[in-house]
Amino acid sequence: MYPLFPVLDQGLTYVLLRSRRRSLALEIQADLSVVVRSPLRMSISDIESFIRSKSSWITKKRSDISQRLQIIPPKTSMQIYHRGQVVQWPHSERKKVQFQRAEAVRLFEELIGRGLTLIGPYAAKYTGLSVKRLKRRWGSCTKSGLITLNTNLICVPDTCIWGVVIHELVHLIHHNHSERFYRQLEALNPEYLVTDKLIDAWSFVVLEESPTKKSGTQGPAEIRTILMSA
Ligand SMILES: [Zn+2]
Repeated sequence: MYPLFPVLDQGLTYVLLRSRRRSLALEIQADLSVVVRSPLRMSISDIESFIRSKSSWITKKRSDISQRLQIIPPKTSMQIYHRGQVVQWPHSERKKVQFQRAEAVRLFEELIGRGLTLIGPYAAKYTGLSVKRLKRRWGSCTKSGLITLNTNLICVPDTCIWGVVIHELVHLIHHNHSERFYRQLEALNPEYLVTDKLIDAWSFVVLEESPTKKSGTQGPAEIRTILMSA
């Protein structure tokens, strides 16, 4: 199951990554571990008083994440998520990237084709599909009718992929998030509130593990433990 995290009063284990940066940053990873990014020469006592000042944020964030994780099936590093399922993946990372992109392009084109038949004359506004890895968004639609979808969408259940496709297609009708937009969205996808919630749960796991490189880290990661009540 999912890892339990220590009660903060009993000490908190964190990973410290130093790099050429000006400020401190705190991240909670999908496995609930804590990562601290700090400038190269900052003292441990300054770093740790910063962590202590964030203790209630850490607790809340971890509990949010573990709640979300309860609806996502766990997987190992030898497995991948594919359309909401856990699939064995004994191949390389490079092959995974190729596979996901090919599957994403094929499926997204098919779903867009199906969705376009539902929006009548507005379908003529559609000018094309771009599939790429996005860090913070599942999709977007420009005023010129170009729809961009996140390759990582291929990891989530089909109902969620469909939810994002329909959302972007409705932007061909209303280029905003007005009440009229949502009324139209609901007419085409009555399940949209459910799928929005579900994809929100997936977003943490999927966006977290996408192959993005964080550069600038110097030296090995240090693993440290502090007493939060000190
Ligand atoms: Zn939108």
